[in-house]
This record gives sequence, structure tokens and C-alpha cells, in this order.
Amino acid sequence: MSSTDTAVSTVITGISTLVTNDPSLGDGSPLGLVRDAAVVIEGDRVVWTGESSKAPATDNRVDAGGRAVLPGFVDSHSHLLFAGDRTEEFNARMSGRAYSAGGIRTTVAATRAASDEELEAGLVRHLAEALRQGTTTFETKSGYGLTVADEARALRIAARHTDEVTYLGAHIVSPDFAEDPAAYVDLVTGEMLDACAPHARWIDVFCEKGAFDGDQARAILTAGRARGLHPRIHANQLSYGPGVRLAVELDAASADHCTHLTDADVDALASGRTVATLLPGAEFSTRAAWPDARRLLDAGVTVALSTDCNPGSSFTSSVPFCVALAVRDMGMTPDEAVWSATAGGAAALRRDDIGRLAPGARADLLVLDAPSHVHLAYRPGVPLVSQVWRRGVREV
Ligand SMILES: [Zn+2]
Repeated sequence: MSSTDTAVSTVITGISTLVTNDPSLGDGSPLGLVRDAAVVIEGDRVVWTGESSKAPATDNRVDAGGRAVLPGFVDSHSHLLFAGDRTEEFNARMSGRAYSAGGIRTTVAATRAASDEELEAGLVRHLAEALRQGTTTFETKSGYGLTVADEARALRIAARHTDEVTYLGAHIVSPDFAEDPAAYVDLVTGEMLDACAPHARWIDVFCEKGAFDGDQARAILTAGRARGLHPRIHANQLSYGPGVRLAVELDAASADHCTHLTDADVDALASGRTVATLLPGAEFSTRAAWPDARRLLDAGVTVALSTDCNPGSSFTSSVPFCVALAVRDMGMTPDEAVWSATAGGAAALRRDDIGRLAPGARADLLVLDAPSHVHLAYRPGVPLVSQVWRRGVREV
């Protein structure tokens, strides 16, 4: 007897607005909205969605009480393997004061000095925080160790908590190699890659002036691909550059940030499979110009929204906050922002089992204390997520 034969079935009824992200369901929009809806869960999967009045019989019944239900958020870009704190740096930046101490290097030093237990405890704390705000899938990266041993242990710890683990030895050139960046690229593509590849699904590089140029990024991603890792790129965040076009050329799953784009960059994204992942928490926390989501969407680019949660440039774990920023400042409609934070994130991770609520999808969902998903942008900063279900189990 298979496990599905014995799985308990549960119906969630009384859903005012259900976001399925399946255009073949409901109103035919990209969000596949169903009013007065129900979702049936069996084991860890969704087995049925539709109008409440047509729901099949189940073992258990939960009444959502006229609230909205959405797929759990898919946060496809975070940096949660770190130690230490950068409050003073943020405070100085927001107070218009110069601040010279080291940026990422500060976090690298603190992370190297932390024990495995401390690193994992920090990760677990931030994951719990994200879960309370509706995130049911997250990607996270190394990149604050920058030695063979420190990068590998970050990934080993991350892999205990998610399948979406990214090797980012190429976050910045390690301070230990400041005089010889080429030797650091050799390390990242050689011994460090050997140690990290078994623990990761993805390889990433920060392609930016002051980090890694286009040729270095190509060498790093190509080496990773040869070891079975799939590319994603930090691209075009602080300035124009080759990152986005390289991402499309290498069929990277995602080009992340995309704040400074030429028309050729937008055309490239529109022509390929690479998702543009926008990270408005970074622009918020550095008072930088917003990425232009409207321009990308109008060109036909697939857009994801994610937190970039990290202690330096975007210390938020809140996808709802990013949705509100995207609607207020990046030209997205509420529907587009919600799609990008769910189905868009799934696309950026090349996953089709999450980011939607249709038969066969994973039963990852959230209940909003509001009648509609639009309230995520309409009521910014309000903790509307009242229930979170992951793999068919209520966790919040
Ligand atoms: Zn990042």
C-alpha cells in the first residue's frame, strides 16, 4: 500500500480568495483566482482546489473564515549563513556619516570566528522568522567564509535545512588574496569547488566592479557547471555590466538584482529562460534607485521577488515587505507582485512543485488575515499571515 493510500485528507474551506497561480483554474488570470474556494490536502500534496460547494469529502475540515489563501512564499535569494551584526554600518549610512570599517569583510571575520553551532542557530532563527511571515521555501548561500573549510561548512549546515543551497565562494575576493585575485579565482574553481560541490545545487558569483568581472564570472560559473552545479548570478546591482547577458548566455536560472539594465540586457532576458529576481530590500536599505519591474514585465521577462536577506545590505526576512515595496515603488500591480513572490520564486529555482496551489503541488500555503491577497500591499507592515502550512502540516 502506498503512502497516499493511507494519507489523511483535510479540506480548508471558507476561503474568500484563493490564489492558485494556475490560469486553468478560477478566473483565468495568471493568479488563477477562485472565490469562495476550498483546498484539499492529502499527505504533503494538494489534491483538489475549486469552489467550496464542490469540495469532495475528507477526513478533516478547517474553516478559513473568509480569509485569503496563497501559495507559501518562495524566497529564492538569501544569505543566512553568517555571524555578527552590522547595525553601526547601517546607522552610519542612514545618518549620512562616513563609515570605513569593512562591509562584507566584517561579516567574513565574524563568520569565520563562529562555531558550527552558532552558525546553525542563526540560520534556524532567521528561518523561523521567515516562516512566520509565510516563507515555505528558501534558497540560501555561502559567501562569508571564503576559505575552503569555511565555505564547505556553511553549505553543509545549509543543506540540513533546504535543498536550495548555493555555493557563493565568489562573493568577494577573499581579503587573504587581495594582492592576487586570479589566485582566488583558481581556488574558487579548484579546491574550494571540489569541497563545496557535494553540498550545493547552485553556483553563484557577484559580477560587479570591485568583485568579479565578466571573464572571471564566466570561468567560475563554467567550472561549477562542469561539476554539476547550475548557475545563478548577482548581476547589474550597482552598475551596468556583463552579468545579465552572461546569465542568459549560460542559461542561469536567475539573474539577481537587475537594477541597472540596458535595452540589450532587457532584450536578452526576454529571449531566454533566465528569471530576473528583484530584491527591493537592498535598494531600501541602501537608499538606492529601485529596479524597474514595469520595464521588465512589459518586455515579457519573468520576474521573481525575493528578500536578499543578509546582514549588510538587506536585513529583512519579510517577503510581504518586498511585495509592498514592489507595488509602491517598482511599478508592479499587486497581482504581479504576489505572483513574483510565489510562482516567480519557484521559476527562479526551476521548480514546478511549489509556488502554486493545484493538484500535485506541494501543500505549502499561507492564510492571510484579510479577504484578499491585495492586502499584502494595501496594508504594508501589518502582520497579516495568520497560518502557514508546509508539506501539508500547519506550522504557524
Ligand atoms: Zn545577494
